Parts: sequence; structure tokens; C-alpha cells
Amino acid sequence: MSRRAVELLEKLIAIQSVNPHYGEEAQGEMAISRFIEAYCLQAGLRVTRQQVLDGRDNLIVELRSGHPESVLLFEAHMDTVSLGSMPRPLEPVRRDGKLYGRGACDTKGSLAAMIVALEECAAEPERLSSDLVLCASVDEEHAFRGLLKFLELDLPVAGAVVGEPTEMKIVVAHKGCVRFAVHTFGRAAHSSVPHEGENAIVAMAEIVRHISERMAPGLADIRDPLCGAATVSIGTIQGGEQINIVPERCTIRVDRRIVPGEDPEEVMAGIERELEAFCAGQGIRAEVERLLLDYALATPHDAGIVGAARAAAERLGLPGGLYGETYGSDASKLQGIKGIPSIVYGPGSIDQAHSPEEWVLVSEVEEATRFYVELARSFRA
Ligand SMILES: [Zn+2]
Repeated sequence: MSRRAVELLEKLIAIQSVNPHYGEEAQGEMAISRFIEAYCLQAGLRVTRQQVLDGRDNLIVELRSGHPESVLLFEAHMDTVSLGSMPRPLEPVRRDGKLYGRGACDTKGSLAAMIVALEECAAEPERLSSDLVLCASVDEEHAFRGLLKFLELDLPVAGAVVGEPTEMKIVVAHKGCVRFAVHTFGRAAHSSVPHEGENAIVAMAEIVRHISERMAPGLADIRDPLCGAATVSIGTIQGGEQINIVPERCTIRVDRRIVPGEDPEEVMAGIERELEAFCAGQGIRAEVERLLLDYALATPHDAGIVGAARAAAERLGLPGGLYGETYGSDASKLQGIKGIPSIVYGPGSIDQAHSPEEWVLVSEVEEATRFYVELARSFRA
């Protein structure tokens, strides 16, 4: 079974499934979804498509075990980030116990292990206490629209496992984020008479200083024991047209990472209030624009899915502790929007995700497959 997962992973890597958000060459999820659909039908599983966007469908794979009132959900996304500067990204290569290729760890490794786990469970469905559903989703690498669409189905999901690289650790907490832009407005003038204009870049410099010197240090105290502290990072700045014109507009884009216990809406509203007050005090004309709000994940440690994961890990001799991550995943939407207790678990490390050197340990893909099977069999709603 474990070897089957690695072979399946090699086939998934070979099918380009770059999220269309990442440029012209991107082929999206249709080809890979067709392949997975055929594979699962062959394995005797029930497969349905859920259209999310034009030519982009979630695949919903079901293993009925006679417990329709309680579903255990496996979820992993089919899309990847761009191929980037990765050498031979679509040719899976095994070397020194590692399997290289785009998506190897993020997150085709988890996806392959979950598919084979379903196949394995299908041989003995009487050992399950819940129906098992796999959602192979689209668009996680951009705006999570696949998972959000899946939530509309409103299945009776009692627990969920989101496949992302966690180095085989049971992740019950991760950060969320609040992303926003700040625009400052000035008045253009010839640069030979700058006093006749109003410089939007100079005004922005005050805001940048406020964020880095006032806002950022205070975040060190907003801390989660598993995820660390809240942070803020100014990622881009754009302003000015030409060297001899006083700039009338400047924009920064800011990524504030929130920790469990922080509500994205409240954090965003607080930032808007703080920056508006600061700008009013400084006589700066500015506007805050919301870009993306995403929940942090904080799964209760006594949730059924957590207990089942620990029991499964223990039986297989894998780490049974509970961990937090700094990156986000689909799990926080399951938990935050629907209150579905969710964990993140999968082979590989986030250090190799999105990098030109993406790989996953073959042994971890094998272990993850066994873990998902064991977890499916231990889970009780
Ligand atoms: Zn991912």
C-alpha cells in the first residue's frame, strides 16, 4: 500500500497543475482531477465533481461505510505554485530517499497518501465508524475558493484532516492573516517647486515608521504557545511617476499574521482605527484597503479528531505531540466557518514548499499513508 502511494505521487507530480493565478503557463487542476477521478473509479470509490470555477472542479471521493450521519473528511489541494526556477519540476526524481518535483510536499504527497488510504479502507469498510470523504480541492494556493465551495455542500463532517507538509506532526494550531493596503494621497507639482505640492511618499514614510516602530513591537506580547507571536510585515511599496514630479500617490501592502484567539475582523477594524487616528494627527490623507482576512486555526485539544490522531500516531510509533505552525491552511476555514474540528497532517516540510528544491521523504509518504488509514479506523464521531 505504501509503495502504491509513492508511485501515485510520481504520477501526480508529472501532471502540471499550477494555479492559474501564477501566470500564462499554468494549466490548472482539470488534467490532474481527471487522472485522480479515473484512479479512484478504478479502485471502486464513488467520485463526484463540484464545479468551483470555469474548468476547475473539486473532486469529491466517497467511501460509504454505513455511517452517513458522520463524515470524516480528508482534504488536500490539487493546485501548486508556479514551476519557478525548479530544474525539471515535472519529472519526479528519487535520490537519497527523497522524491523531487513540484508539488512533492505541497501537497501532492499528502494527496497521494490520502487517496491510497481510501483505497485501503475500501477493502475493509466495516472497520470504519464514519463515512470517509476526500475532497481534492482547487485554488488553495490563491484564494481557497475550492474549499469554500466545498463548505456549501454542508456535509455532516465530524472531523477533518487537511493534508499539508507538517513533517508528520499533528498540527492543531496555526496563524491566520489580515492583509491590507494603505494608500496615501498628495498633490503633484514640478519637482523644482516641491513646496507647491504635497509628497505622498514622504507621508507614507511616516506610516511605515508608525507600523514598524509602534505597531510591530507591541505584537510580541500577542502570543500563542504553539504558534509564537503575532507579526506584521510591509511587503511592497509603490509610489511616484517620475523623478521630476512630486508624487501624488503611494501604496504599501501589509501582511499582519494573527494568532489563535485573534479575530481577523476585529484585528482589521483595530488597524483601520489606529491608522486613521494616526493620519488625522499627522495631517496625512490616507485610506486603508482590505485585501484578505483569514482565520487562525485553534482546534480544541480534546476534539475527537485530535484524540484519534494521537492514538493512530502512537500505534505507529510516530510523534504524538500537538504542534503549531506559522503558515495558514484550509483547516482554519473548516474550523472557523463551520466549527469542524480539524488538524493538519502530512509528509514533507514547509521549508521545501514553494521552493526551487521541492522534495519529500519517500519514507514519510509511506508513513503518512499508514497514518491516514489508522486514523480513519480510530476515528469516532
Ligand atoms: Zn499547500
